[in-house]
Amino acid sequence: MKSREIRKQFLDFFNDKGHAIVPSAPMVIKDDPTLMFTNAGMNQFKEFFLGNKAPKNNRVTDTQKCLRVSGKHNDLEEVGKDTYHHTMFEMLGNWSFGDYFKKDAIAWAWELLTKIYKIDKDILYVTVFEGADAEGLPVDQEAYDLWKAIVPEDRIILGNKNDNFWEMGDQGPCGPSSEIHVDIRSEEEKAKTPGKDLVNQDHPQVVEIWNLVFMEFNRKADGSLEKLPAQHVDTGMGFERLCMVLQDKKSNYDTDVFTPLIREIETITNAKYNKEEEINIAIRVIADHVRAVSFAIADGQLPSNTGAGYVIRRILRRAIRYGFTFLNQKEPFIYKLVDTLIKQMHEFFPELKKEKNIIVNVIKEEESSFLRTLAQGLVLLDNIISTNDGKIISGAKAFELYDTYGFPIDLTALILEEKGYGLDEEGFLEELEKQKNRSRAATKVETGDWEVLIDDPIEEFVGYDTLETQVRLTRYRKVASKKEGEMYQLVFNITPFYAEGGGQVGDKGYLESPNGDVVYIIDTKKENNLIIHLSKNLPKNLNDTFKAVVDTKQRNRTAANHTATHLLHQALRSVLGSHVEQKGSMVHSGYLRFDFSHFSKVTAEELTQVEDFVNARIREQLPLQENRATPFQEAVNQGAMALFGEKYGDLVRTVKFGESIELCGGTHVKNTGDIWHFIITGESAVAAGVRRIEAITFDAAKEYFANQTDAYNQVKAVLKSNATDPVKAITALQDENIALKKQVEQLLKDKAKGLKTELKAMLEDVNGVKFLATKVALDQGSIKDLAFEMGNEYNNLYLLFASENDGKVMLTCYVSKEMVKEKNLNAGQIVRELGKLIQGGGGGQPFFATAGGRNPEGIPEALKKAKDYIL
Ligand code: ATP
Ligand code: MG
Repeated sequence: MKSREIRKQFLDFFNDKGHAIVPSAPMVIKDDPTLMFTNAGMNQFKEFFLGNKAPKNNRVTDTQKCLRVSGKHNDLEEVGKDTYHHTMFEMLGNWSFGDYFKKDAIAWAWELLTKIYKIDKDILYVTVFEGADAEGLPVDQEAYDLWKAIVPEDRIILGNKNDNFWEMGDQGPCGPSSEIHVDIRSEEEKAKTPGKDLVNQDHPQVVEIWNLVFMEFNRKADGSLEKLPAQHVDTGMGFERLCMVLQDKKSNYDTDVFTPLIREIETITNAKYNKEEEINIAIRVIADHVRAVSFAIADGQLPSNTGAGYVIRRILRRAIRYGFTFLNQKEPFIYKLVDTLIKQMHEFFPELKKEKNIIVNVIKEEESSFLRTLAQGLVLLDNIISTNDGKIISGAKAFELYDTYGFPIDLTALILEEKGYGLDEEGFLEELEKQKNRSRAATKVETGDWEVLIDDPIEEFVGYDTLETQVRLTRYRKVASKKEGEMYQLVFNITPFYAEGGGQVGDKGYLESPNGDVVYIIDTKKENNLIIHLSKNLPKNLNDTFKAVVDTKQRNRTAANHTATHLLHQALRSVLGSHVEQKGSMVHSGYLRFDFSHFSKVTAEELTQVEDFVNARIREQLPLQENRATPFQEAVNQGAMALFGEKYGDLVRTVKFGESIELCGGTHVKNTGDIWHFIITGESAVAAGVRRIEAITFDAAKEYFANQTDAYNQVKAVLKSNATDPVKAITALQDENIALKKQVEQLLKDKAKGLKTELKAMLEDVNGVKFLATKVALDQGSIKDLAFEMGNEYNNLYLLFASENDGKVMLTCYVSKEMVKEKNLNAGQIVRELGKLIQGGGGGQPFFATAGGRNPEGIPEALKKAKDYIL
């Protein structure tokens, strides 16, 4: 069975059981401070489990793009080395939100695997939670009994808390789980060791395929458990592992999910899969990582130096490095695999095809730049080796190479080994640990339990219509981090505060108690669909009704920038072409930033056209036309562009100004006239094929003009008499300056000529040498000219000039070539020795040399000693 049919059968099966099929959420998570990437199917439903929002369907099923490379689930180091962990994989799942529970979940899982997919029952094992005394948790008897009715008892294995109790995080929903494992070993091997003994023992052919989680509890900050008001089912099955079983293979990489990629890698690199383990690992790493990176880029996450972007960069670099070392690839090649990947996946994941250009270009560019880093690292490593005492390279040096230059440590170790050197690995790990601790301490956040005052889980946002309203506090909790100190997170029944999202910053403002006390709201963020207001302190009386007031000035500036961002998007598509797509945006109160796909620098003329376009829309005074509940498809039909990597509901908000229409949850001006004016302040590259424009509007534009005017007036004031036409005046000054420079040069030349005559008269005959040692008041260039000119006139010359310029003392020595030979005079040696007298050093050639120093007091002595060389 082909993988695409396997996927379809799963979804159809649960659809028949009343589950709505929903799309995969983006793999890159944007609005959740607790998670960078989706690492399980349940992530997108967290808000339902937490009770922050009611689901539309209480049974859903999907396949979810997951990435396990950071945080709690990090499989990166396993990937490629084993045959069943990936960085990016699909997790098939079915969910019950307070609907069915263990009975149906277990029965359906078994039915699907054994009846529909027809997996032989004799290769399946199931696990059940054995309980945990310390937590007062009993064995999951209910699950055990349900399994016992369909599976022989010797195939049911009790598992500990580590394997069979699932938790969302340190706090939050959790519960026992029941896993299904497969044993796909050969009959001989099965005869040797029973499969039962290998479950959860990291055997590559006795692996977990499906995890059924029964969410029963909520874990509080103090570690205690409380029963959830409603019970849920959350299941996750690894799609690639399922394909391995159904296609009768021993490795995920031998299924049709991966073989096209592996064939392509073989073709490009001339390496053969399944010959040598080192090469196999490299091929698997590359086949896996190109998927993770392509999907991430399609979801809008470009490689970068921070956060999620850095994680993506590291994955790609791991692939490049394996190709470099084990497949001998010194030129970019991974980008060439994208075509094959797209062919394989585009039916189910159309975003790949749509974003192909960006994916290919970004990967290629990253490859080139990291290959340069590798080449540079090799040179640095050679340097370290050649200057090292002994045969062991210290951990600190290897760490610097790793941390500052991005040079992979395993590559360092390998090269050192080849050259007969050792690496202090422990020292390296210590350095790494130190760095991790530093960043961990800086980012660690301690979160308290929610204190619930009013049971009102749905917090209504009214901030599109009003900036001030009466609110009640429904819950709050304390959070503490080293970086930001202690803070409170407040949740209200209703709020005018916009939470950071869609690139727009969160609102600031204050809460006022009836008695006039004020608590400042310093930021507003969203977490699992909950609007959270941050404050440094709590109101005195928590049960008051407060007046909640948004900082109008900041909000208005931000709104102007947000609307301008839409107009900018429209302008770019009109001026540059419809290939322009939004790749990111940042809307602050002070400025806006917009990233978009475009393959060359935007020219000055184009920028002017874009600016003019936006300003024309501003002058047209277009009113805001918004619709908060447009069916998604209708919005798209109207011309609004859905961004990959964004999560949209069935009903979306559309924001329209004239011809500009966008899907947007942000806050906007009522009329484009309120933007006042739009000025582009910068254009730059973010990545291959992605440009960035920065701009300002409204107050910031006014300030910009005021500053420009001010500067202009100052220029005029400085120019005094020529104030009417400063450009003309400045040009005249520049011309005058050029003329004066020429005059000065001429004068200096004349002076040097006069000086030459004077100095010639001062030459002394000492033992057949024409000698002069004296101080001259010339710059270094003129001294050199002078010495050489005099040298042209004599063939037995020996000169030592001393000069002082800007506190710097110089000695210049000239010796005719003939004297170098006959008298054994050496200008280089002379300045080195005499240079000491002026606390300096220098050198040069035997016939001409200079020394610079700091001690003018030494000049007379140096001049005196010069003669000693010919006496
Ligand atoms: P394992 O112990 O094999 O790492 P897990 O306990 O981490 O698995 P879960 O978190 O329960 O797995 O995820 C549900 C299912 O997703 C697993 O049963 C497995 O089929 C699949 N899965 C988990 N991690 C990966 C991965 N890195 N690559 C591919 N599939 C995975
Ligand atoms: Mg795991």
